Amino acid sequence: MKNFILLFLLIYSLNLTAQNNYFKNKADTKDFSIDSIINIYINEIKPDSIRNTIQSLQSYTTRFMLEPNRKNIAISLKDKFISMGYLNTVIDSFIVITNFIYGPFNIQDTTWQYNVIATLEGSLYPDSICIAGGHYDSFSDSILVGKAPGADDDASGVSAAIEIARIFKMMNYQPKLTIKFIAFAAEELMGFSDESGSSYYAKNAYANNEKIKFFANNDMISYNRSISNWESKFHCFTGMSWIRDFAYSMCIDYTSITPDTATHNPWGDSHPFWQQGFQTLHFEEYEFNPNYHTVFDVVDSINIDYCAEMTKITMAMLISGAQFYTGIDENHKSGIQINVKLYPNPATDRITIDNAENQNLNISVYTIVGDFVLQKVLTNNKNIIDISSLSKGIYIIRLTNTNGTMLQKLIIE
Ligand SMILES: [Zn+2]
Repeated sequence: MKNFILLFLLIYSLNLTAQNNYFKNKADTKDFSIDSIINIYINEIKPDSIRNTIQSLQSYTTRFMLEPNRKNIAISLKDKFISMGYLNTVIDSFIVITNFIYGPFNIQDTTWQYNVIATLEGSLYPDSICIAGGHYDSFSDSILVGKAPGADDDASGVSAAIEIARIFKMMNYQPKLTIKFIAFAAEELMGFSDESGSSYYAKNAYANNEKIKFFANNDMISYNRSISNWESKFHCFTGMSWIRDFAYSMCIDYTSITPDTATHNPWGDSHPFWQQGFQTLHFEEYEFNPNYHTVFDVVDSINIDYCAEMTKITMAMLISGAQFYTGIDENHKSGIQINVKLYPNPATDRITIDNAENQNLNISVYTIVGDFVLQKVLTNNKNIIDISSLSKGIYIIRLTNTNGTMLQKLIIE
């Protein structure tokens, strides 16, 4: 009996460490890092899986927000999340008053609308939330005859969130921060309505003091006629340089896409989040989609491989941001870049930080698992910091002054 219990405990503990061993076997110990973890996960993104989701959304023929099928669409998205293991998925209902003038029609309507929210609870900071989402309603010049396939706009963005959610559940991913996957309703008539799914969510989140770390919005991420040299627009908001830089580095490090981080016209579901002060950014394909808001916005006219590549950006952000909490945004003040240089990187036993800001600089160092290891206030223009007590690996350095916050990855060899 005793042996049986020991055997049981052995099997149980082997199970517990199975995931860790999986990573350790995939990479040597030194490379047991965020890079290797992100690479393992993004390699699970399957274009076929993304195509299936887009196809199933397109198969509604229309997802126009004033059509009566909207609740069935929300229920099917909820069922999809539940089938992947998100048993906590909810439909969050709200009322929208729309006054929409379209051609000869003046549509006035008060409707119930339905956001769909699936949650992967954080193990260490469940109150801190990272969001990935897109909108599931669609629009076209043929909405009055009930046609709006909306494959690119925005079944593609919803499919990105669903694909990431699928992989996280399949791989039993356990983030330290909570991750929410949201399919937003009622985006397309934002300018003609008193509410959208995203404005409803963002306003409530602000009122409830929800600690949103960031919202990565994917809206139209699948149109691209070329097979290489891919680019992407990052629609950035004033004062949101942290997420811009974060997304930029994830895109450069983990995808074949060249990001264009110029401030474009920020609109869509990110906008209300920005209005409430939450870090947010909207990813979009680089090339204008000529099928935008027409009946030709269908699966056959988009580039699924590009969509899969775009999905990697959000996935890398979720793993990097939700796994390794650094408390970045709470004191984040503005979009001004800090004029600071850190070198060498990789380093061995010391680093130098040049501070051209004429003010004190706070430096905090965190391990790759988010543990705080070092803090200093730097008062000089040139500062040499002894890091010989830190073991080899990858660290996150947070540099803060009154102008803002900068994050940097430091490798100690
Ligand atoms: Zn859209």
